[in-house]
Amino acid sequence: MKKEITIVGAGLVGSLLSIYLAKRGHKVSIYERRNDMRKEQMSAGRSINLALSDRGLLALEKVGLADDIKEICIPMHGRYIHNADGTHAYQPYGKEGQYINSVSRATLNMKLMDLAEKHGIEIHFNQKCTAIDWKKNEIIFEDPNLQLQTLNFDLLFGSDGAFSAARLQQQLHHQKFDYNQYYIDCGYKELTIPPTPDGNFALEVNALHIWPRKDYMMIALPNLDKTFTCTLFFPFEGDLSFSKLDTKEKAAAFFEATFPDAVPLMPDYVNEFFHNPTSSLVTVKCFPWVRDDRFALIGDAAHAIVPFFGQGMNCGFEDCRILDELMETNGDDWATILQQYQTLRKPDADAIADLAVNNFTEMRERTADPKFLLQKKIEAELHKKYPELWIPAYSQVTFSPHIRYSEALLRGQKQEAIMQSIMQLPDIENKWESEEVERMILEQLD
Ligand SMILES: Cc1cc2nc3c(=O)[nH]c(=O)nc-3n(C[C@H](O)[C@H](O)[C@H](O)COP(=O)(O)OP(=O)(O)OC[C@H]3O[C@@H](n4cnc5c(N)ncnc54)[C@H](O)[C@@H]3O)c2cc1C
Repeated sequence: MKKEITIVGAGLVGSLLSIYLAKRGHKVSIYERRNDMRKEQMSAGRSINLALSDRGLLALEKVGLADDIKEICIPMHGRYIHNADGTHAYQPYGKEGQYINSVSRATLNMKLMDLAEKHGIEIHFNQKCTAIDWKKNEIIFEDPNLQLQTLNFDLLFGSDGAFSAARLQQQLHHQKFDYNQYYIDCGYKELTIPPTPDGNFALEVNALHIWPRKDYMMIALPNLDKTFTCTLFFPFEGDLSFSKLDTKEKAAAFFEATFPDAVPLMPDYVNEFFHNPTSSLVTVKCFPWVRDDRFALIGDAAHAIVPFFGQGMNCGFEDCRILDELMETNGDDWATILQQYQTLRKPDADAIADLAVNNFTEMRERTADPKFLLQKKIEAELHKKYPELWIPAYSQVTFSPHIRYSEALLRGQKQEAIMQSIMQLPDIENKWESEEVERMILEQLD
């Protein structure tokens, strides 16, 4: 039997989910807190561009949207490292032909909303979920004039992001709801690199740029309008922190000393630094995500993660694909679909949350370290020679959408332990290509 399905939140995941559900014949309505962003001017300093990788693309492909979305993406084939001493290094992300895609979150969201509407989905804007009555299967939305409307639901999805109201309602009315929220001590701020005076990209376009500086870092991703969005990940407090850079002079002195090659490309960075918001980064783990056959959390509402593996959206899109596979197998048995969805996805969401926190250390501390670069080179060679046996952790997460995140975490930990022992070998810099080293690595794999 086809359902009337209500979705809270028309973000990236809610919009894609609605298309999956409509394709299965359900009647879907989305209720979104904000105004229609397609009719609004975007607020400064919140442009956020995202890395869309193979998991997200696979989920888009399954509903025939990958080609539409690729049109608004810029391929990034590797990391372009800007060292503190002014030197540069380039690390390909994977094998030749493998890349991740820079896409503007807002442009992607608007495109997904357009596509959802094309599939007959109604999106109701300015409707903020404020309460859910689980006994009556009712949900209450409030509009900007504080007018309330109460709706009945058959099946409800909470895709209302990291600070989900639907999740709060699940928590408030559940006897055993586990909830864990963890803020890292760094926040982030966006800055802009405009096009050059002759209208070109100011940096290599097909790369994700990183300025790793140990306790903090700046990254830059390209946009279709030939700008780069830079994001500074920086401590909130401490000797070098947002709180200490409290005058234009201090901010300028810090940037000139720390990012000397970026400063000439960012004519307005001091103003942006003081006008653009400083935002926090949170990991949320919770359980259970579902309620009988009538409710599920999905996307960031179920599992908010920090952005250092570029997987939050990819993971949310994968939730939609897995849910769809379960619909295929279980027909209209929603109690089973939702139970299996939670059983499958919870360990994977926990795994990518941990991988993402760990990758912050890797990006800001290790990408500038020559020994780390050598390790990555050895792993890339191993992958080339033994493509099934050795897949670098980054490639498992980013380019192997059929490897579960939980499996990638375990395999990655095992490989890292092996590599740590190999990197301790005397004279590894000169003998890393030897048969002896290869044998030692392979022996340590089962
Ligand atoms: C700096 C940064 C960089 C990132 N980089 C990447 C990356 O490179 N790759 C990647 O895959 N992911 C990345 N992410 C994560 C990605 O942005 C999120 O995982 C993704 O947006 C989650 O989508 P969502 O639809 O679950 O939530 P959201 O996109 O947050 O959408 C939630 C929607 O629900 C609405 N809403 C909220 N509350 C209510 C309510 N009470 N009632 C009704 N509607 C409501 C909101 O207005 C919003 O439209 C990054 C995140 C950040 C912050």
